[in-house]
Formats: sequence, structure tokens, C-alpha cells
Amino acid sequence: MKLLINRIAVLVHPSAPNRNIGDFTSRKFVVNNMKMNQILHMEGGEGDFSYTNNSLVQKRILIKSKDMIEESVKQVCKTMQEVPECLTIADLGCSAGPNALEAIWEIINISTHFYQNKKVKLPEYNIFLNDLIGNDFNTLFKLLPKFYKKLKKANFGNCFVSATPGSFYGRLFPTNSLHLVHASSSLHFLSKAPEGLVSKSGKGANKGAICITNNCPPNVHKAYYQQFADDFTLFLDSRSEEIVANGQMVSQEKKMHLVDMNSLSILFQAKSGVLQMVLTFRCSTRSHQPDFLWDFHLLGTALLYLVHQGKIEEEKLDKYNVPFYTASIEEVERLIEKQGCFVINKVETFKVDWGLRDADMKMTVDETAKHVSHGYRAVTGPWLANHFGTALMDDLFNHFEALTKQYLQVGKLEILNFIMI
Ligand code: SAH
Repeated sequence: MKLLINRIAVLVHPSAPNRNIGDFTSRKFVVNNMKMNQILHMEGGEGDFSYTNNSLVQKRILIKSKDMIEESVKQVCKTMQEVPECLTIADLGCSAGPNALEAIWEIINISTHFYQNKKVKLPEYNIFLNDLIGNDFNTLFKLLPKFYKKLKKANFGNCFVSATPGSFYGRLFPTNSLHLVHASSSLHFLSKAPEGLVSKSGKGANKGAICITNNCPPNVHKAYYQQFADDFTLFLDSRSEEIVANGQMVSQEKKMHLVDMNSLSILFQAKSGVLQMVLTFRCSTRSHQPDFLWDFHLLGTALLYLVHQGKIEEEKLDKYNVPFYTASIEEVERLIEKQGCFVINKVETFKVDWGLRDADMKMTVDETAKHVSHGYRAVTGPWLANHFGTALMDDLFNHFEALTKQYLQVGKLEILNFIMI
């Protein structure tokens, strides 16, 4: 039985020393990936296959990361010498469902209690919900009246929510504008499938599979890792420009002094550790050999069935690879160190069972398989429909459900997660 591992990491931004962070071409990147940005999003609306109605597992990942969120928010509050008038928070990869507002509620709740205990005026909140431009923001907005009502009832500070459509692999916010960045279950999605996997003549290197498998050629893993490394570095580059360099908005002179220190001293962290990120995403236990991706493996097998039934051309499947990578902790640590603008405070890993066996929910095997199939259709349906055609989606996910049922006899539907702050 396999687990999907999500990792949570809390990152602090020590300074942006020695790095010419203006040298990356995020604007060009955004334009080049415009098509991908429109395709790679979850199923919108409130229907049977919508993300809104099929994101229980991601909700449980969020619940498991609450302690890390708390630690991170308190760190932000503690390190600002004065109560800020407004805290600016971004949720990156918010999707269309209720989870994004759960995360924001949690962050506001923790900071409100922090300031209430200090008996000081509560800050206001500027909240940015980000996702790709194809995301169904309207479904998310419909949840706002209830959310605002709940905040008012709890006597929290004023809160202003807005949407920021665009890729987090590139600049999204003005320079020096964010206090806290939260991203849950989103950073395992790549900006695109690695290009090197399809030759110029159109031949696929990853024959019969749509992801890294135990017996895929070594260049497949290499290409996936390289895409992750490029994307994640661009993510860090972009955030390093956006995140508030000091919670007090220090004068340029003071900021220069801190940057000039050019090393990451404890004092610096304590004074300007408002620069926090809480990232949770799926990970692998080892580098060099990513964990078995039971979910994408089963989806690939379901697609193969359709090839055998003559419903999909073999070449079309060979050319398709999912934009998804489960990095190891070591890979992530190495990239953060190399990029140079952040240090990790804490890393934790935890497992979540897609079959919900660890959630005290009594479901039969049939119900579990349906739940998993709907969950994956909500996440991957729009991109698979884009490549293979909407008409095949019912067939595809019926096969996937049947395969999941078989797999449940021998394996667990677990995912390993990684959280860093
Ligand atoms: N955070 C939510 C949603 C997770 S699903 C939750 O915990 O339930 C992942 C989301 O990340 C999807 O909505 C997807 O569209 C978004 N996403 C993937 N790549 C992205 C990118 N490059 N920029 C912004 N959002 C992205």
C-alpha cells in the first residue's frame, strides 16, 4: 500500500543578498505558458465532479498542517515590533473549493488571538487568493458572504479578499508587499510537462506511461526533476521580491544595513522573520527514485485500456506526461539553499490516505473507489479532457474506478506530504 506524502515547509526570508533577482524573465514565462495556465486547473462549479465537492483529502492535508501554520503566523506577529495596520497574506493555488477560505480563517484566527492577548488594536487583512487564470474564481467568490459574516461574528479585524489570477511560477504581487505566503497541495504541479520527453519528430520517451514509473528510462526522471528545479527556483525568486523584507516597512537605510550584513544572523531572523511561507505539497521519500505514484500509474493504465479499445491512438498516449513531480526533501532543501533567499525553519512529513481509512469514515470498497475516482476527475479531468477529448472522460474514469477497486485489495491509497515553514 502506498502513501501520498505531503510535506509542509516554513521558510523565512533572511534577505536577498548577492542575488540579482531581477534577472529572471517571469513576464516572458507567463506569456509562454499562457496555454498551460488555462488548461491546468481543477474542475470548477458545484457538480458531481467539481473540486468544490471532491476536495476532502486536500482538506485533511490542510488540517494536518495547522500546527505549522500556527507556528508560522505567530512567528510573523512576534517579529514585527509594532502591530501592522494591515497584514497581507497570499494563498497560492487556492482552487475553487472551500479549503482556501479555511486556511485564511485559520491564519486570521491565530493572528487575532495573538494581538488580543497583547491587548492592542487588531490589524486589518489584505487577502490574495491566487490560482491559474482558468480557475473558477466565481465559485470561490460565492463563499465570501458567509466567510465575511463569520469573521464579523468573531469580531476579527476588517478583511478584504481579492483574487490574483496567474501562475505562481512568476511574479504575482508588487515588490515588498506580502507578509505571509501559504500554499497547500499546489507546488507538486509543474508549470508544464518536461519538454524533453517528446522528441522533435514527435516520439514519446515515456512509452505507455504518463508519469515517472519504476521502470521508465532514466532520462524521464531527469527531465522531471529539471522541470521541478526550474519551476521551484522561479517560485522562490518571485516570492523573494514580493515578500515584505521587514514587517515594519523599515527605511531603505535600515534595510540596506540588514542586507549588507550579507549573512543570516539570528538577530536578522528575529527582527525580520515576518517573511514567512508555509508550503505543503506531496513528496517522495528518496531522491533518484521517486515513490510509486499509484494514482497516475492507475490513470495511465486506464488510458492504455482505451488505447487497446481503439479509442485513443497509442502515439497520443506516448506523447502525454502529467505536469506533476513529487520531490524529495533533499531535492527541495538543495534548491532552497542554491537559490539563496530563504532558510527553512522546520520540515515535517505526514501521510494521508485517499481511501480515508485514517479518517474514521466507514466506506465500502466500492464507495472508496468512487470517492477516489471523483477526486481525481476533479483534479485531472480538465487537463486530460484537453489532450484526449471530453467525450472519453466518463469511460476513462470508469476504468480508473475499477482499477482503484482492484488496487484497494492489495495496496493503500496513501500519499506522503511534506510541510515546511
Ligand atoms: N489549496 C487548495 C487547492 C489545491 S489544488 C486546497 O488545499 O484545496 C491545487 C491548485 O493549484 C489548483 O487549483 C491548481 O489550478 C493550482 N495551481 C497549479 N499550478 C499553479 C500555478 N503555477 N500557479 C497558480 N496555481 C496553480
